[in-house]
Amino acid sequence: MRLILLGPPGAGKGTQAKKLVAKYSVPQISTGDILREAVKNRTPMGLKAKAYMDKGELVTDDIVVGIIRDRLQESDCAKGYILDGFPRTVPQADALKTALHEMGQSIDRVVSIVVANDELIQRLTGRRTCKECGAGFHILYKKPKAEGICDQCGGPLIQRDDDQEATIQNRLTVYNQQTEPLIAYYRKDGALKEVEGTGSIDEIFAHICAVIENHG
Ligand code: AMP
Repeated sequence: MRLILLGPPGAGKGTQAKKLVAKYSVPQISTGDILREAVKNRTPMGLKAKAYMDKGELVTDDIVVGIIRDRLQESDCAKGYILDGFPRTVPQADALKTALHEMGQSIDRVVSIVVANDELIQRLTGRRTCKECGAGFHILYKKPKAEGICDQCGGPLIQRDDDQEATIQNRLTVYNQQTEPLIAYYRKDGALKEVEGTGSIDEIFAHICAVIENHG
C-alpha cells in the first residue's frame, strides 16, 4: 500500500500514520521527522533546514525531494509506505510522480484529512512532544500520566519550536497557499479521498481505513 496523508498542520497526520503503520505493516515516512532529526544532529542539511522550520516556512523542494528519493530506495519501502508531510508543493508532487515512475510504482491512495482552522490552532498550541523518543501528547486531548513526562520512555515533554502561536499562524498560511492546491492536483488524478478529521482518534482512523479499503 502506497499512501499519501494530506492535511494542514495539526490535522493528525502523524498520529494517524502511526496507527496505519501498526495495522498495515508499512513504514511512515515523515519529512518533518527526518528534518528534525537532521537539525538535532546538526548535519549540514539540518543546519540549512532549521532557519525555514523555525519560521514555519517550507524547506526548499530540492532538500525534501532528495530525502524522499533516498528513503524510497530503502528495503522497508518494498511493500509500501505512508507519506506524512510530503509532498507539500506542486513541484514536490511532480518530482514524486517522476521518482515513482522511474521505480515502476504509483500511489494507491491520497487521504486528505479535513479540519477547520480554529480547531487546528487549539490543537497545535497544546501539542507536546517527547524530546527523547518523539512520542506525541496534548495538554487537553492526550494528557501524559505525569505532567511533562513521556509515558513511553520517561523523557521530558517539550513544545516544538514551530508550535509557538506566531509560527503556527504562518504554517497555516503556508499550507493554504502552497499545499492546499495538492487537493485539486490529486483529485484530478482520481486518487483523492477526503476524511473528516474531527472526532476521536479511533473514529478518524476507522474512516481512513474504510477509504483505504475502498468501502468509505
Ligand atoms: P511537519 O512535522 O510535517 O509539520 O514539518 C515541520 C516542518 O518541516 C515544516 O513546517 C517545514 O518547515 C518542514 N517540512 C516538512 N516536510 C516538508 C516538505 N515536504 N516540504 C518542505 N518543508 C517541509
